Amino acid sequence: MLVLGAGPGGYSAAFRAADLGMKTVLVERYANLGGVCLNVGCIPSKALLHVAAVTDAATAMADHGIAFGKPKIDLDKLRGWKEKVVGKLTGGLAGMAKARKVDVVRGFGKFLDPHHLEVALTSGDGQEQTGDKQVVKFDKCIIAAGSQSVKLPFIPDDPRVVDSTGALELTSIPKRMLVIGGGIIGLEMATVYSTLGTRIDVVEMLDGLMTGADRDLVKVWEKVNQPRFDKVMLKTRTTAVKAQKSGLKVSFEGDNAPAEPQMYDMILQSVGRSPNGNKIGAENAGVAVDERGFIATDKQMRTNVGHIFAIGDIIGQPMLAHKAVHEAHVAAEAAAGQKSFFDARQIPSVAYTDPEIAWAGKTETECKAEGIKYGKAIFPWAASGRAIANGRDEGFTKLLFDEETHRIIGGAIVGTQAGDLISELCLAVEMGCDPVDIGKTIHPHPTLGESVGMAAELFEGVCTDLP
Ligand code: FAD
Repeated sequence: MLVLGAGPGGYSAAFRAADLGMKTVLVERYANLGGVCLNVGCIPSKALLHVAAVTDAATAMADHGIAFGKPKIDLDKLRGWKEKVVGKLTGGLAGMAKARKVDVVRGFGKFLDPHHLEVALTSGDGQEQTGDKQVVKFDKCIIAAGSQSVKLPFIPDDPRVVDSTGALELTSIPKRMLVIGGGIIGLEMATVYSTLGTRIDVVEMLDGLMTGADRDLVKVWEKVNQPRFDKVMLKTRTTAVKAQKSGLKVSFEGDNAPAEPQMYDMILQSVGRSPNGNKIGAENAGVAVDERGFIATDKQMRTNVGHIFAIGDIIGQPMLAHKAVHEAHVAAEAAAGQKSFFDARQIPSVAYTDPEIAWAGKTETECKAEGIKYGKAIFPWAASGRAIANGRDEGFTKLLFDEETHRIIGGAIVGTQAGDLISELCLAVEMGCDPVDIGKTIHPHPTLGESVGMAAELFEGVCTDLP
């Protein structure tokens, strides 16, 4: 088994294949295993978001009678801590690969034909090629080569213009930053930088932020986060960026464009990610790649070439680590001859902002678009003892159920720790729970998780003594 790429998809596939008894080779260009997620994505961003959340919470304590001084920021130490978190996890992966006798080959892989991959060996952090090549012969292959940030063509090459990877490097704290793209990644980074003291503008072409989430959830987030931003420019686009000594001069066009160009010390481009399908010589192996770089698969993650599978960001949306891992297990098991296939009813999404927004299964927007007759129950956290005690009762928990089958088809939470709380709803959707199943389950009191049980009890017929 050859696995190309050692992100969450690739390392999970390699480990499962090795556990199933296959002789496994894992090809990765970078020194560390873990891909985007562990090195420059999920994990470092959450390490910094944790610091931001604790800092903001400490500042908010003044309202509760405990005042701390103004936070003193030691950027080197903060960066060091983030790197330690990443190192702990990537080091752990190297140990797990070794324990399973997965042969890790460090280099950039390209298919030569349907059974051979040529690897241009790399050294250092993975940027330099040693000039040596190694050809790996394989019976089966799982492509997990991931994705990379999209760059806007008119934006100059300038160290003050960064993508999420550059923003996570945390080389300085700019005074004014423009975030291009109001999706989850952009707004998570905006949260970190604004807590560190940066004034932030956001520009978004669409008519809302985090457009995958229902608007009622985003509204709560917007109310809390208003002070973080100088301007949120919806239905607006950047048209030109001029790199000047004094800063980056940005022109805008659209419904909320400022009349004059604006100056920024830093620009974060977070306008999406594009798959790496066109960079791996897939055509030599006969693997079909579409014009955007995505590779199509069936439910066993098999490409159009029977012994070659593909998983993770490279096969499509949603580009999320937990989706990649799940697909990885299916692909490795299918390659080993098991009857596994991908049949998830829900893939949860979480914005680890403050408050967090999390949703699983159908959103209301999707229900409406698909003509599903749905009912909903919303439990406001203003009635949650724990949320009130935490001083964070702005959120709510929402459950959606199918009016015909009475099964839970979706749910969403906005509030602190929503990302952790959503798991119960993931299980509910996956198992096709009736709201009664949740409403009659005893939840611990006083917890935020209780809000899921309370929302379920609001469904008609579950608990008649409630409004
Ligand atoms: P990747 O992680 O992209 O890994 C692909 C690997 O393949 C890379 O290591 C790359 O070097 C290697 N590679 C590519 N081509 C070759 C080649 N030809 N030869 C050798 N090696 C190659 N997802 C979540 O679920 N939760 C989050 O909180 C979250 N936060 C994120 C925050 C940020 C800032 C970003 C950018 C992403 C975040 N994501 C998050 C998305 C998540 O990181 C990706 O969905 C996930 O990493 C995809 O895994 P993958 O295995 O498909 O690919």
